This record gives sequence, C-alpha cells and structure tokens, in this order.
Amino acid sequence: MVKENLMEVRKHMEEACLRSGRNIDDVTLIAVSKTKPVEMLMEAYEAGARDFGENKVQEILEKRPQIPQDARFHMIGHLQRNKVRQVIDKVVLIHSVDSLRLAEQIQAEAQKRQLHTDILLEVNVAREESKYGFFLEEVEEALKEISQFSHLTVKGLMTIAPFVEDPEENRDIFKKLSQLFIDIKSKNIDNGTMSVLSMGMTGDYQVAIEEGSTMIRVGTGIFGAR
Ligand SMILES: *Cc1c(COP(=O)(O)O)cnc(C)c1O
Repeated sequence: MVKENLMEVRKHMEEACLRSGRNIDDVTLIAVSKTKPVEMLMEAYEAGARDFGENKVQEILEKRPQIPQDARFHMIGHLQRNKVRQVIDKVVLIHSVDSLRLAEQIQAEAQKRQLHTDILLEVNVAREESKYGFFLEEVEEALKEISQFSHLTVKGLMTIAPFVEDPEENRDIFKKLSQLFIDIKSKNIDNGTMSVLSMGMTGDYQVAIEEGSTMIRVGTGIFGAR
C-alpha cells in the first residue's frame, strides 16, 4: 500500500508542478514516518523514498540505524534544547527552529562537536496559539542574528499551516511565506544561503507546490492514518 500511495503522491506533485509551471526536480518529497514501524519505512525506501521526516528525537535514534545509510532524516517536530546534542549529527536538516535560544543551542553544540548544521526557521504564519514558530514580522530580525552563527546555516523557512477541510483555505498562508522568502532573498539578508521552502502536508501539498514550496512533508498520504 505504501508503494501505491507514494506513486499517487508523486503523480499529484507532478500535476501541481505542471499547473504552476514548475519543475518536479525542484520539489522534494519528505515521507513523514513518525509513529510508523521500520518495516513501513523500508517499504517506502524500496519504492524510492530517501527523505524521512520524524518529530521525536527518540524515534530518529531508533529507526535511523535500521534503514540503509543513504536515507536522510529530517527533524520536523518541536525540538527541546536539551535534546539538541543527541540529534544534530543524525539529521540532514532541522526544520523546526522556532526560537533564537534553540538556534543558539544548536550553534553551541555544533561548535563543540566541530559539526555544521543546516536549519530552517519555523514560521507561525497563521499566528495560531497552539503552534510554535516566529511570527512573519519577526523573521528578518531573527535571521540577521542567526545568519552570523558560525556552525549553522539557515537554509530556508518552514510552516505548518492550519488544519482545514478545503486546502484552498491555506493558499493565502503559503503565499505569505513564499513572499517573505522572496523578499529575504532579494534583500540578501540571508547572505544567499536560503533555498528551501518547507510547506505543505497531506491535506494541502498541491496548493503549497503551486505557491512555491520546495519541500513537502507528507505522512498520512503515504503511510495511512496515525
Ligand atoms: C505530522 C507532520 C506532518 C505530516 O502530516 P500529514 O498530515 O500526516 O501529512 C508534516 N509536518 C509536520 C511538522 C508534522 O508534524
């Protein structure tokens, strides 16, 4: 079933790219495997998936050694500062940097271990109280500070859009983040390091792609309900 689901998602990705004149190679599919067993990750791996998203450090530590080494793990969930040490050398990208203090902790650990960590800044575009992240108007300021850190690079922005019935309701959220991404690049606040816009989940990834997403995070649509 995982294989069929993946094929279905890829087909919808292609359609969304066609509709918006984008190249499918510019959009990376992250298979969000949180709570799912290693056997299911392997099914996805065998069907070509290489990027996996997890939201708990413990699950990354457990699953990663059981999956072939060319698989890439992405930390997409809220990261506590005391867990940074355990995860920074296990993931290719931390999508969920939601505060300056967390960025500082990542910088400190990366420096201590002589590593370099790629991160995204999580943006709470819809200003939901239940969600983490910077507000849109805080991003520039945060980026100015964080882009001076020596052992991490801000690769882009990430958002978790509200849960909605009709994905069109989230189009405006994606547009806003996309516009901020373009503004930041044109003002060169990021020193040219930003290339990733991580937005879109099972319910709304096609709209997100139409609005410029370069990484979609799909869980339910590949692995079924959690
Ligand atoms: C769980 C999760 C997803 C995937 O959600 P689905 O609706 O199952 O596709 C994407 N991003 C984040 C940050 C998540 O926690």
